[in-house]
Amino acid sequence: MTDKESRFPPGTTCVGKYDFPGRAPHDLPFRKGDSLIIIKVSKDPNWYKARHSNGTEGMIPYNYVMEKSNSSHISNPSPVPPTPCSRDESAVMEKRGVVKLHTMPWFHGDITRADSEALLTPPKDGLFLVRESQAHKGNYTLCVSYKGKVEFYQIEKDSRQWVSADGEEYFENLVKLVEHYQKDADGLVCRLRHSVEKKGAHDIVVSLEEFKNKGWAIPRADLDMKSTLGKGEFGEVWLGEYRGNKVAIKMLKEIKSRQATQQFLAEASVMTTLSHTNLVGLIGVSLDESPIYLVTEFMGKGALEQYLRTRGRSVITKQNQIDFARNVCNGMVYLESKNFVHRDLASRNVLLSDELVAKVSDFGLAREGVTRSDSQKLPVKWTAPEALKENKFSNKSDVWSFGIFLWELYSYGRVPYPRVPANDIMQFVERGYRMDPPDGCPPVIYQIMKDCWQADPNARPNFTRIMKSLEKEVPPS
Ligand code: ADP
Ligand code: MG
Repeated sequence: MTDKESRFPPGTTCVGKYDFPGRAPHDLPFRKGDSLIIIKVSKDPNWYKARHSNGTEGMIPYNYVMEKSNSSHISNPSPVPPTPCSRDESAVMEKRGVVKLHTMPWFHGDITRADSEALLTPPKDGLFLVRESQAHKGNYTLCVSYKGKVEFYQIEKDSRQWVSADGEEYFENLVKLVEHYQKDADGLVCRLRHSVEKKGAHDIVVSLEEFKNKGWAIPRADLDMKSTLGKGEFGEVWLGEYRGNKVAIKMLKEIKSRQATQQFLAEASVMTTLSHTNLVGLIGVSLDESPIYLVTEFMGKGALEQYLRTRGRSVITKQNQIDFARNVCNGMVYLESKNFVHRDLASRNVLLSDELVAKVSDFGLAREGVTRSDSQKLPVKWTAPEALKENKFSNKSDVWSFGIFLWELYSYGRVPYPRVPANDIMQFVERGYRMDPPDGCPPVIYQIMKDCWQADPNARPNFTRIMKSLEKEVPPS
């Protein structure tokens, strides 16, 4: 055991040396002089789980407290609080749970009564599906096959949008409702036994309760809105303050469909599973009021695409370019190790911190595994041919996008395929056409681009190998 690890054993009473406002939802804010008891030493020896004398619990940084028994003979600490210890994010992740995406294979959306009857044929007791109600827009119908007939149950919603099949017991979402009736008939003609699975893409549902239970909820009152930063697909993005730190706040526009809400939350849910210095981190989600807010790490220099275009050759050095490339590749090595496919890697989705560290963002399309069926929204110029044509997304299709990203980086934010009409891109690429190197692009970098653009996904390097090549490239000083 190192000295660091044994600093404060559990049970130690400590006193705050400085005000600690807390930075993350699981932090325990306290004031100078407050009394705190250490409950647990976290994996990260710089951070402890502690209980405040007011009963609240959370994480505190080592360098903001001192042992109470020592506090009388220690001279006053310096008046300026230190930077809280850096934290080992893996220890933090342990504290906050992962929020899962649930799929609803048995949800068939807007189909008619006759369609649902056809889908439940041949009949089988307990065979079921859920569809949108035709009579009551916004509600659902649970259709269950029993003794050769189909029973229909209206599912109604309450003001919280919770759902119920009997008007008595309410569930947070359809997944919870179905799970309940899979265990027990509880008033239905029979227990739900076998689902009719929808062909194609399945709807997803993310549980608001799960964000709360897993420690990601941020009370709205803890957020101060400062100014707008930009506009996203779902609404405005704001600069805000949370416990003394700058944060970015993404809002979900007020009037949005269930699907849009779920997609917005899907991004947050994906982010709860990821933690890396080169990925924009989730701080929390604010759900207690409408609209829903997604709170992320603030990236002071904004989107890389914009930065490249506005600063250009005069400001951005060769060293900056190789650093950005390595940062992004590093983030992608991590995603690859987690078997996560981003699907939308592009310079518009890379953000820059005040210290010019590039981080990958926009996990809205990111999914574990490989299938995805709605191709309307695909950014054609960035997407690998096999992903466009056969919907085959993989870490290797992200590698293709990384090649396009490098091209953007070395052309200072130009739009890819400058001389090719948008509608012809796919054909051009299929015929083997590839972009020329941007002016002044180092040969090693152009070679990486070409490797990323191999028609055969298996012939492309993975991110670990690309990282090795990028490490070799030393820009002239
Ligand atoms: P969407 O993907 O929904 O279109 P983005 O996440 O790309 O939305 O956000 C839109 C814009 O808001 C970005 O281009 C950027 O200018 C700004 N922005 C988003 N997130 C942050 C952040 N964490 N820090 C600073 N600016 C941000
Ligand atoms: Mg974006």
